[in-house]
Amino acid sequence: MATHLKYTFEAPCPYKGTADFSTGIFIDGKFTAGSEGKTIEVFNPTNGKKVCDISEGTPADVDTAVKVAHRAFQTSWGLKVPGSERGRLLMRLADLIEKNAEELAAIEALDNGKAYSIALDFDVTQSAAVIRYYGGWADKIQGKTIEVDETKFAYTLHEPIGVVGQIIPWNFPLYMLSWKLGPALACGNTVVLKTSEFTPLSALRVCTLINEAGFPPGVVNIITGYGQTVGAAIANHMDIEKVAFTGSTLVGRSILKASANTNLKKTTLELGGKSPNIIFDDCNLEDAVKWTAFGIMFNHGQCCCAGSRVYVQEGIYDKFIASFAAHIKTLKVGDPMDPDTFQGPQVSQIQYDRIMGYIQSGKEEGATLLTGGERHGKEGYFIQPTVFTDVKPNMKIVREEIFGPVVVVVKFKDEDDILHQANDTFYGLAAAVFSRDISRAILVASRLQAGTVWVNCYNKLHPQVPFGGYKQSGVGRELGEYALANYCNIKSVQINIGAPAP
Ligand code: NAD
Repeated sequence: MATHLKYTFEAPCPYKGTADFSTGIFIDGKFTAGSEGKTIEVFNPTNGKKVCDISEGTPADVDTAVKVAHRAFQTSWGLKVPGSERGRLLMRLADLIEKNAEELAAIEALDNGKAYSIALDFDVTQSAAVIRYYGGWADKIQGKTIEVDETKFAYTLHEPIGVVGQIIPWNFPLYMLSWKLGPALACGNTVVLKTSEFTPLSALRVCTLINEAGFPPGVVNIITGYGQTVGAAIANHMDIEKVAFTGSTLVGRSILKASANTNLKKTTLELGGKSPNIIFDDCNLEDAVKWTAFGIMFNHGQCCCAGSRVYVQEGIYDKFIASFAAHIKTLKVGDPMDPDTFQGPQVSQIQYDRIMGYIQSGKEEGATLLTGGERHGKEGYFIQPTVFTDVKPNMKIVREEIFGPVVVVVKFKDEDDILHQANDTFYGLAAAVFSRDISRAILVASRLQAGTVWVNCYNKLHPQVPFGGYKQSGVGRELGEYALANYCNIKSVQINIGAPAP
């Protein structure tokens, strides 16, 4: 028997309905128990209490899902269904996500701990936007005609790959799902996707919406389970020809190795970061302070692109840290269901312990704690927004991804100094520049080794704009037109229209 969730949301959550859906694994349009009948407990990070059980998928379930997805690809998706129809279904799914927005936001708050109002305004709204954007692409995925010489006519076809494997993390459960499903389905692939074992619930709710939208059974299959078993089975599967992974750089390496050791599946990786946020003397200080706080504390610091290294030019350094500390203290930490909350709990006890370990190392290595640095409240996995100053380049809190509400603020002299410091990392996901001098901003942006550079803002993502990493922050790009390339095989066709036989 597949597992089930029935949960009624109450005040202070603005959504008062009941979430009532299966939490089994989703194969061929139906929920079932995992092949070994085991379950995984899901916890509410706000109080550490159990919410429900979900079914634990196994490598055998991945195998079944891959077979089903192959059948669906051959018979009811892929080249059998025109792009316009795939687009129509994606648009319907986007509409259904919006129709159920409040419930989905409440599920994200319950499962992940993110603030309900932010989940509603950002995660759910943007997930629908991404799915809709790729719905718009589905009938515009075209090859080219290519001029060779007068004896040849050549063209390319952009064909779906087949069954694609996708593995997502816990920090944006629904939003990461949309980044994965949107382009894969628009291009005509079928999907076997693994959610994070920590935050499976919103994706499982979306499974019912996938059926309601009218996707043929087997086009989307979602397996809940652990990385070592279900994730590894996807990464190693011989009948999956493409894998898209979002998560840590450490696991990203194992995905690439699995590809190399099996069928050389095409692999895209969206990995970690330690992104520099650069504040020049000539910025609008008040705005820079607010964007900088948002850049690191949004989603409780659990953003791959979080601006976790803030560099401030020496002329405004003292003023900046005074206003920054004051502004950080105004961010409301508390119950994610409360509409005024900005920061909820970290996602799990493991993450809580990891982040507190980094805070401890900052204290021990001699950094100055400007604000925060302790647990917030008595229960759940809450951490005070934490700012360190007087750090040294080799400290762990400067070099390693903390993935929590912890930031270091560092002084710099001039452009050469900041470019050296900012690029001194093996990551390269994002960066930001705050300056009123647009020439300077463009120059610095061009010399930063990062896949995204924001100027006078932070953490702005749009379905149309590609996102991905330089250096060890990833391989390939998601979002925008670029993501379509991840999910198509390019076939060249050459037609002889006059060359004599050899
Ligand atoms: P993680 O790497 O631990 O797990 C990510 C996913 O991989 C989970 O579903 C997990 O179960 C699975 N997994 C774990 N071990 C596996 C294995 N051996 N084989 C296959 N799959 C396995 O990462 P996380 O803790 O869930 O997420 C946090 C990390 O994700 C951070 O490093 C963050 O920067 C990164 N991230 C990157 C982006 C991006 O777009 N670049 C976006 C979100 C998160």
